[in-house]
Amino acid sequence: MSVLHPSTQFDAIVVGAGFAGLYMLHRLRTMGFRALVLEAGEGVGGTWYWNRYPGARCDVESMEYSYQFDAALQQEWNWSERYATQPEILRYAEHVAERFDLKRDIRFETRVTAARFYEDTARWMIEAEDGRRFDAGFLVMATGCLSTSNTPAFPGGDAFSGERYLTGRWPHHPVSFKGKRVGIIGTGSSAIQAIPLIAAEATQLTVFQRTPNYSVPAHNAPLDPEAARAIKADYATLRRRARQNRAGIDFTINPKKALEVTSEERQRVYEERWAMGGFHFYGCFSDLPLDLAANETAQDFIRSKIRAVVRDPKTAATLSPANVFGCKRLCVDSGYWETFNRPNVTLVDVASEPIEALTQAGVRVGGREHALDAIVFATGFDAMTGALNRIDISGPGGARLVDTWRDGPRTYLGLGIAGFPNLFTITGPGSPSVLTNMLPSIEQHVEWIADCLVHLRARGLRRIEAEPAAQDAWVAHGAEVADATLRGTCSSWYLGSNIPGKPLVFMPYIGGFPAYVQKCAEVVASGYDGFRLS
Ligand code: FAD
Ligand code: NAP
Repeated sequence: MSVLHPSTQFDAIVVGAGFAGLYMLHRLRTMGFRALVLEAGEGVGGTWYWNRYPGARCDVESMEYSYQFDAALQQEWNWSERYATQPEILRYAEHVAERFDLKRDIRFETRVTAARFYEDTARWMIEAEDGRRFDAGFLVMATGCLSTSNTPAFPGGDAFSGERYLTGRWPHHPVSFKGKRVGIIGTGSSAIQAIPLIAAEATQLTVFQRTPNYSVPAHNAPLDPEAARAIKADYATLRRRARQNRAGIDFTINPKKALEVTSEERQRVYEERWAMGGFHFYGCFSDLPLDLAANETAQDFIRSKIRAVVRDPKTAATLSPANVFGCKRLCVDSGYWETFNRPNVTLVDVASEPIEALTQAGVRVGGREHALDAIVFATGFDAMTGALNRIDISGPGGARLVDTWRDGPRTYLGLGIAGFPNLFTITGPGSPSVLTNMLPSIEQHVEWIADCLVHLRARGLRRIEAEPAAQDAWVAHGAEVADATLRGTCSSWYLGSNIPGKPLVFMPYIGGFPAYVQKCAEVVASGYDGFRLS
């Protein structure tokens, strides 16, 4: 029997107050459940609360990177740019929290460190860093796929005496690089957004690049109020079209194959999509993710664009990616390649000669010290499993999640985990998640979980657990569809290869958003096939 005070007992506890946790709380409340959110930060917004680096903005267009569960919310909010900035997205998250009166059921500055399932009560005991305990029938992890920063252990460690910044944990006070020599480590999406802005402010910017990335122009601009009004007049159509796309984003995928068209047509399509900006480029030809020869034509096109912009041929060559286009996450930029024409920007290739050490004065590479006043670590995240594995989660009998996932994450649909009853993950490994516009993926999971809890309540059931056989089949299917693509051919955080020692498993489900949604609906229609309910 529980000895906890009733104020710490809940039908469901949700961990994380990003977009997933906020909507989960609202939905649970609407369904009449007593729910609480535990959040490590001091405010809502998750990604958009932590990532305050210069240039941070979404790369899914604002009109789509927003909730659709509430028609009035969708109508009343006005985005100001094609791709919203971090401050604007954070204001939106705040607005949602206020509008639905969510904060009264969120405990901020509450980092969850452990959770244990007790078989006798069929309930979870959740423990926070400060020792507080909470008890819940169901535990929903809305801890984020990109919420645990990767901080590589460079030799020299703390030697550097200047300022240090981590993109994923940016300070809340304004940071000025005026008059400073700044170094940035990394050239992923975060760095590619930050570099043009830091270069414009700093005296000198040194970019330490290990692997060059493909980036397409955002063509960001103020949002045309007329265009926004037209979308709002028929928002459902935009949302429906997006749901039919494998990434859950409203762009068309050209059904033609790159090598089946003439070189003139190929060039025309690439130019057209380049001019459209952003993820439209993903849809140039249907075979780009599958056929290496086709993919090489897209690689060649982007490399030609880099050469056309970057004046110094050596710098252009160093910036040119050689891996498969779309293998790492495609970056979307505003003036990234142009930045390397600035006289105050230097590119240092740390692929051939890795960073030797952080020194008191800067960064040493190939025996040469680069003197710096500040270093920005844009070194990414321990993605998808990082936040979950940092919590000591144990199932009945004490089996720990971190041990269960030693060889990589295994889930059923990215929603449930065999051996861990009454535990749900929102956009967990094994779901399309980070391969999609995250907002619709989050909403689909939240609604699935809430409906599931209503189903259990209506039948007087208190326990649900993924069946091992169903999980094995889903994991095998996930691996099979991933193996059919070129996505496993490079080092990426999707695979876990950015974190030393992390098992190499392609973590998100690559079968596409529509097929996945259909599978989840079929599971429900068949009475939760693959889950054991009791
Ligand atoms: P998060 O926003 O990551 O929130 C998780 C929350 O859980 C955090 O607040 C964290 O503090 C909390 N938490 C974690 N562990 C614990 C714990 N143990 N105890 C208590 N609290 C905990 N996706 C897109 O679709 N389009 C984009 O344009 C896009 N841009 C991005 C830009 C950046 C810089 C980054 C990093 C990611 C971007 N993403 C984008 C992905 C983005 O993470 C999702 O779109 C979305 O914001 C995720 O929401 P979430 O609620 O699932 O997770
Ligand atoms: P990332 O893509 O993983 O990039 C990290 C960078 O750091 C890479 O260039 C990596 O090089 C480098 N790096 C890591 N360890 C290093 C080391 N020891 N030495 C030298 N370089 C090292 O991380 P991110 O840029 O934060 O982006 C992560 C994801 O967040 C994105 O893919 C995207 O999904 C999301 N995001 C989206 C946006 C947006 O545009 N809306 C913005 C930011 C982030 P290697 O490639 O060689 O490992």
